[in-house]
Amino acid sequence: MAKVTIDRLSKQFGSSVAVADFSLEIEDGELVAFLGPSGCGKTTTLRMIAGFIEPTAGTIHIGDEDVTRMPVHKRNTGMVFQRYALFPHMTVSENVMFGLEMHKIPVAERDKRVREALDMVRMTQYRDRYPRQLSGGQQQRVAIARALVIQPRVFLLDEPLSNLDAKLRLDVREEIRALQRDLGLTTIFVTHDQEEALAIADRMAIMYDGKVQQIGTPDALYERPDNIFVADFLGKMNFFDGSVREPGRFTTASSQQIVVPAAGAATRRIGVRPERVRLEGEPQGPNALAGVVDSAVYLGSILDVRIKLDTGESVSSQLSNASGHLRAYAPGTRVHACFQPEDCVVFSE
Ligand code: ATP
Repeated sequence: MAKVTIDRLSKQFGSSVAVADFSLEIEDGELVAFLGPSGCGKTTTLRMIAGFIEPTAGTIHIGDEDVTRMPVHKRNTGMVFQRYALFPHMTVSENVMFGLEMHKIPVAERDKRVREALDMVRMTQYRDRYPRQLSGGQQQRVAIARALVIQPRVFLLDEPLSNLDAKLRLDVREEIRALQRDLGLTTIFVTHDQEEALAIADRMAIMYDGKVQQIGTPDALYERPDNIFVADFLGKMNFFDGSVREPGRFTTASSQQIVVPAAGAATRRIGVRPERVRLEGEPQGPNALAGVVDSAVYLGSILDVRIKLDTGESVSSQLSNASGHLRAYAPGTRVHACFQPEDCVVFSE
């Protein structure tokens, strides 16, 4: 079993808190992404799990074993870094072999393991090349092979795709996910890229300022964010500040009335995703806010329309079938921004 249990893990560097009270159980074979802006503590948490950084407080278990103070090479974790970290004077095969030597795998087994690992990442034909003779994507594949050749209990990846160009990033991302599923690897994937985390993770832990903000499946976090940071960090959201004067009815600061069944007395802000906002000529449904198109940006698959409401607030709407809508929503067009009450997310902050 390679379940990972992190319990109230903290790290302080001098007086600054990098990670505060981080708790999470990662199931055997699950891929969890740590997602958050630069400096939020993702890498520090990953490095504590790998054993490169000693926690100030808290524990880490892999399976039933307490590894909190165990040296790196005894934890049996495979780590992939942002900058491949291959040895420049070693060939591809030698780089992959190195891990096996470190882990004292029997000599008779080593060649076979290296061959299998290179085969997994489709790098067999490059086995005698040096890292400088490889592209970035190929170097990262070698780094992945080197991490997996030791058959780790836990696979740890620290922003493994950030040095690759956009197209390659998608290819390697899919390869990592396929390998992870095929091998049933318990995996932690650190990234600051929202789309990457949404696409690859079974669950994500969103971090900010050393603290976990919310943990859940990609769709749960996107559809039901617990707080404004999560809502705003994971995609775009239109926010309205205001209060609830009668149940189910939210009054914005500019006296706009919005029907929101979930809004209770504690609600201070509501949000609605731009792709849930439809534009209509005539008001439709309980929430139809009148205004004029301020700008319409053609983004290929969607049209991103900004509406200036008559009350002075702004609302974004993202429409699919961009080219079909482009002419209909020229700046200055009068529209109603319509959305369903159940598409509103409520916040008490
Ligand atoms: P990034 O995406 O930029 O790598 P991150 O989320 O991985 O960011 P960490 O590298 O974990 O963030 O850093 C968390 C905080 O701890 C930051 O404020 C950072 O400056 C601080 N920190 C990290 N390592 C050290 C260190 N060795 N000494 C002092 N402070 C550190």
